[in-house]
Amino acid sequence: EGKRTRSDVAATPVSPLPRLRVLLPLPLADAYDYRVPPGLAVRPGNFVAVPLGGREVLGVAWDGEPDPALPEKRLRNILSVLDAPPMTATLRRFVDWVADYTLSPPGAVLRMAMSAPSALEPPAPQAGWRRAAALPGGARITPTRRRVLEVLADGAARAGGELAEAAGVAPAVLRGMADAGLIEPVLLPRRPRFVPPDPDRPGPELRPEQHQAAEALKATVARRAFATTLLTGVTGSGKTEVYFEAIAECLRQGRQALVLLPEIALSAQWLDRFRARFGAAPALWHSELTSRTRRETWRAVAEGEAPVLVGARSALFLPYPDLGLIVVDEEHETAFKQEEGVVYHARDMAVVRARLSAAACVLVSATPSLESANNAQTGRYAALHLPARHGGAEMPVVEAVDLRRTPPERGRFLSPPLVAAVTETLARGEQAMLFLNRRGYAPMTLCRACGHRLRCPNCTAWLVEHRAARRLQCHHCGHVEPIPEACPNCGAAHSTVPIGPGVERVLEEATALWPEARLLVMASDTIPGPAAAAAAAQAIQDRQVDLIIGTQIVAKGWHFPHLTLVGVVDADLGLAGGDLRASERTVQLLHQVAGRAGREERPGRVLLQSFVPEHPVMQALVSNDLDAFMAAEADGRRPGHWPPFGRLAALIVSSEDERAADRAARDLGLAAPGGEGVEVLGPAPAPLAILRGRHRRRLLLKTRRDIAVQPLLEAWLAKVQVPNNVRVQVDVDPVGF
Ligand code: ADP
Ligand code: ZN
Repeated sequence: EGKRTRSDVAATPVSPLPRLRVLLPLPLADAYDYRVPPGLAVRPGNFVAVPLGGREVLGVAWDGEPDPALPEKRLRNILSVLDAPPMTATLRRFVDWVADYTLSPPGAVLRMAMSAPSALEPPAPQAGWRRAAALPGGARITPTRRRVLEVLADGAARAGGELAEAAGVAPAVLRGMADAGLIEPVLLPRRPRFVPPDPDRPGPELRPEQHQAAEALKATVARRAFATTLLTGVTGSGKTEVYFEAIAECLRQGRQALVLLPEIALSAQWLDRFRARFGAAPALWHSELTSRTRRETWRAVAEGEAPVLVGARSALFLPYPDLGLIVVDEEHETAFKQEEGVVYHARDMAVVRARLSAAACVLVSATPSLESANNAQTGRYAALHLPARHGGAEMPVVEAVDLRRTPPERGRFLSPPLVAAVTETLARGEQAMLFLNRRGYAPMTLCRACGHRLRCPNCTAWLVEHRAARRLQCHHCGHVEPIPEACPNCGAAHSTVPIGPGVERVLEEATALWPEARLLVMASDTIPGPAAAAAAAQAIQDRQVDLIIGTQIVAKGWHFPHLTLVGVVDADLGLAGGDLRASERTVQLLHQVAGRAGREERPGRVLLQSFVPEHPVMQALVSNDLDAFMAAEADGRRPGHWPPFGRLAALIVSSEDERAADRAARDLGLAAPGGEGVEVLGPAPAPLAILRGRHRRRLLLKTRRDIAVQPLLEAWLAKVQVPNNVRVQVDVDPVGF
C-alpha cells in the first residue's frame, strides 16, 4: 500500500496540497489525515468539518506528522474551519495523555472535550429595541406605548422579552410601535455570561492554623507553576474556607479556577457559601445542564468568561484558556472514577491537567485516599493539615453497638441502645439521622415456601423491593418488575417476604417508634436533583425535620447545625465481599457520616450498629484514630505491592455468550505478561459475574511501582485476537478489586 510507485509520482500534482491530521470525536484509534485546500487557513487546534464516509463530521486539527506514504488520491479535503475558539495545545496534550494512560482511543477522549458540539456555532447576536432617535410627529401614544417609552427613556437598548415584561405589555405592542417608528431594532451588545466572583470581598476571619494553610496555598497559586497539595483536617475543620482563599488568589492572578465536587447535584449549601464569599455564583458543569446552558457555559469557559467553574469530573475536559488552580474536594470519593466508556479517575487526571496547565492542584479530604496520603508522605505532594474543628466544636463521640449482645427485636433493625438514643435526642428538640447505604425497602426477597430468591434476569444481583413504588428493581441494570403475587419458582401464593432492611424499611420502623417525629428520607430516588437537595437542606436547617433517614448522599459535606445524633444501621455493610479497599472505603464513608453530628455548640454522638465491633474499622472510628488505621492499612498492602505501593490494571472480558467470555479470558490468561515484578491474577469471575446480560471475567495485572502497566497491556492485548462478540475493557488503577 504505502510504497510510492512510478505512476503514483506521475499522478501527484506538481505541488501537492498540505496535509493535516484531524482527530474526530469517535471511538477511533487515531487521527486521520486530510488535505488542506487552497485558501483555507488551518492550524492545530482549529475545529474543522471533514468528510467521513458519506457524512460530514466535526473534528479538531491535531498535532503530529501526517503519513507521507498515504497516496494523494486516498485523501479528502477539509471542508471548512469553524468560527470557534481553537482547542488549546494544553487541552490537546491532555486528551492525548488521558488516551495513552487509560488505553482509550483518543477520539473517545476528544468526545468528552467536545461534549457541547452546538457551542461551536458562533452565538447568534441578540436583537433588541431602543427608543427612536426622534419620535415621529403623528404617532399615537397610548398608555401602553408610553410605558414602553418610559422603560427605554434612559436611551439603553433592551431585549424584546425583557422590555415587554418590564413595561407590562404584550410583545405585539412592540411590533406596532416599531411600525409606527417609535422604537427601532438594534443588535444588543453581548452581556458577560457570568458575573465575575470578587476575590477581595472580606471572607470570615480565619483561625491561625487556617490562615497559615491559606497562605501556603496562596503562595503555590501565586507561583504559577505546577504543584499538588493535600489539604486534610477533620470534618468541619474549615478546609473549604481555606481553599476559597486559594481561589481568591487565582482570581487575582487573572487565571481560571476549577473545583471538582463528587456530587454537584447535592451541593446547594456549598454554592451558598461560595456566593456569600465571592458575591457571585460560579459557572456549573454537570450532566443535568440543559443543552443551552451547556453551550453557553462551554463558550464562556473557552472565552475566559467563567473565572470559576464548579463541576463533576467531566469539567476537566473544558477548554480553559488559562487554568491556574484545580481543587478536588472530597478527593477520596469513588464518584470521581468514571467506569463507563473512557475509564479514568478524575482525581488523578486533575493532577495531570494541572501539570500540563502549570497550575496548582489542591486535593481536599478529611479521610484522604491511601494513594494521596502516600504521595504526601513521600513528598510528591505538599501536605497541609487543620487539626481541630472550627469554633471549638468537638468531634462527635463514636460508640459501637454490639448487635450480638443488644440485638433489635425480631423483624426490626434498630437496637434498643440506638432507639433510646434517638428518643432522647428528639426529646431534647435536637435532630437525629439514621444512615443506611441501601435504597428501597429490602435488598432481597425470598419465598417462604421454597426458599427461592428473586434475582435480576440480567445480572448476578438480587432484586431490591421498592415498596413505595410497588415494584422490584435491579440496582445495577435498572430492570424493574412488579412484586409477584405468586412465587415464580413454586407457585405458592403471597409467599414472598422481604429480607433485610433498606431505607424505606427503616422509615417504616421509625414511623412506628416515633409517630410524632417529622421524618425525611434522603436517597437518590427521593432527592432526584439540585432543587430537591436544596429544599431538603433548607427544611433541615429550618428545623422542619426531626429525623433524617438517608443513604450515602447524607454523607456529603452537609452542615446541619442542629443535628447531634447519627445512627449507622449497618456499619458492617461495606465490609462484605473480597474488595481490597473495603476497609478503607468503609472508614472513609462512616467517618464522613459521623462528621455530620455535632458541628456547632452541642456535642455530637454516633452509634455504629455492628456484629463485629472488634473489627479494626470499628475500632478506628471509635477511637477516632484514622491515621493509625491508615498506617496499618498501608502496612498490609506494602509487602504484596498492592496499590499505592504497586500498580494495578484490570481487564474485564465480557460477552453475552458465556463460553466465548471464558475462552477469551483463558486465552488472555495464557498470553499473560510475566517477569520480575509483574504478576497476573485470574481469570476469575468479575465482581458482578453477569451484568446487563453479559458474562464478565476479570484478569488483574499487578506490577511494581516503577514498572508502567500501559506498554505491558498494549503488548498483551496485541497478542490475543478476541472474537467480535467479546469485549475487553481496560481499567487502569481500578477502584474496586
Ligand atoms: P470542612 O470543609 O473542613 O468540613 P468547613 O469549611 O465546611 O469545614 O467549615 C465548617 C463550618 O465552620 C462551616 O459552617 C464554616 O462556615 C465554618 N467556618 C469555618 N471556618 C470559619 C471561620 N474562620 N470563621 C467562621 N466560620 C468558619
Ligand atoms: Zn440487573
